[in-house]
Amino acid sequence: MPRRACADEFNAIDKPSVIELNHSLISSTTSHSVRAPEIEVPSMTFVVTEACIKCKLTDCVEVCPVDCFHEGPNFLVIDPDECIDCTLCEPECPVEAIYSEDELPAGQEQYLQLNEDLSRDWPVITEMKDPPDDADEWREVKDKLQYLER
Ligand code: SF4
Ligand code: SF4
Repeated sequence: MPRRACADEFNAIDKPSVIELNHSLISSTTSHSVRAPEIEVPSMTFVVTEACIKCKLTDCVEVCPVDCFHEGPNFLVIDPDECIDCTLCEPECPVEAIYSEDELPAGQEQYLQLNEDLSRDWPVITEMKDPPDDADEWREVKDKLQYLER
């Protein structure tokens, strides 16, 4: 279509009615709130593993924003229902005993259930304590599950 004819056609349009039409369209779309679908994100937990047994240095407990560490006689555990997966405790542990549940080293998988079970019975700990006198002697020892006191 020639440019001039196109301009003439545009000028012939009843512009107020076009504006009204647009306004009513906008009103009709904004008068109803549109909800994003709710997506359920599975929550992850961190897990205390074998290296903590008999070390129990408690460096980890003070950084936890939701107080989910529980203390037993010679081991700490994390309550999986309370852990918010913030990762703050993991680098605090001097013996690298804390892992995300999806990064548990081979042979440490059973500690996921152990943390859940023992956190039901043991009290919450939120402040650091002095470690056991012989904590350093146990740092490098493997297969310490047999020494876990409940
Ligand atoms: S810092 Fe590590 S070794 Fe110490 S109590 Fe926490 S998990 Fe156990
Ligand atoms: S990951 Fe965060 S919330 Fe979970 S135990 Fe560690 S510090 Fe607490």
